[in-house]
Amino acid sequence: MSGLCLHNRRVVTCLHLLLIAVHLTPGASLASNRYQFADFQMGTLFRIVLYAADERQAVGASRAAFARIEELDRVLSDYRPDSELNQVLQAVEAPLAVSPELFQLLDQAQEMSRKTGGAFDVTAGPLVGLWREGRRRGRIPAPDEIATARQRSGYRLLRLDAAARSVRLDRSGMRLDLGAVAKGYAADQALQVLAEHGLRRALIDAGGDVRLGEAPPGRPGWSVTLKTNNGDQTLLLANQAVATSGDDLQFLEVGGKRYSHILDPRSGWALTDHRLVTVIAPDALTADAWATALSVLEPEAGLKLVADLPHFAARIELRSKGETLTSPGWP
Ligand code: AMP
Ligand code: MG
Repeated sequence: MSGLCLHNRRVVTCLHLLLIAVHLTPGASLASNRYQFADFQMGTLFRIVLYAADERQAVGASRAAFARIEELDRVLSDYRPDSELNQVLQAVEAPLAVSPELFQLLDQAQEMSRKTGGAFDVTAGPLVGLWREGRRRGRIPAPDEIATARQRSGYRLLRLDAAARSVRLDRSGMRLDLGAVAKGYAADQALQVLAEHGLRRALIDAGGDVRLGEAPPGRPGWSVTLKTNNGDQTLLLANQAVATSGDDLQFLEVGGKRYSHILDPRSGWALTDHRLVTVIAPDALTADAWATALSVLEPEAGLKLVADLPHFAARIELRSKGETLTSPGWP
């Protein structure tokens, strides 16, 4: 394929439910026709590229994959009032049993919070909401608003009981936000659905968080192009994932300063150092989670944390300083 632009996250809402087979490689053998599909889901454009024997197989498998993403959105969305995630908000001081899938994701998120000392935190929902409103109104939240939201955030206030598979919140006014991992997880799940349909040579692009299956026929991997300040870098990847976090599209600009949609839950403030973080990992959930975490952590400390993770590489571009740091395994 010609390469994916990871920064092209701008989406057009009228693409809703666009389901198209756009490319049939001319003269390719039956088992290696290339198909591409797109659908607007989870507030972003999901793309599926796959190789299949025929169009019927390709369309059937991609429909099932998109249906799985939609199902996940109904569980994980913080925007949908009726999502399972938002039902958990009723669990103030009273445990609520949740689905195995939601429990597992919250458990993994808590593990990330412990590892990162709270730099990654899915209980930062009140702060995320406050800064989201700030972006809408073009203003920085007031210090007392930030203080109130901070009191309602903190991963230690989220209690998980594995035996009962239940969740409990220690304070009222808490909100959970899986925005830092949901797209990556959805990409992993969509790839799994395609595999269940017998299609393993596939790629899922969840608005810039990309999960890759087996390589295209006759190729060593999928070409994924990263657009960096130092020019393009093309990665050749298979059976892996790559995720990028940055403030390119969602930010607030006040007084010449850019406030990211990613915030430091420890201070309550949106990030201002204009970073671009890319993570390669075995799966998209992990890549997505660490791309967000490495946006918040002090860069060297963050890279030290990930240095021991197997099959893992990271790149941190500090655009306000014009510096780039990479982990030892970075290609
Ligand atoms: P991503 O684009 O994957 O880096 O995720 C960013 C989204 O995650 C934001 O839009 C928020 O919804 C949420 N978020 C922001 N800051 C954090 C944080 N420090 N930890 C966890 N989630 C966050
Ligand atoms: Mg992320």
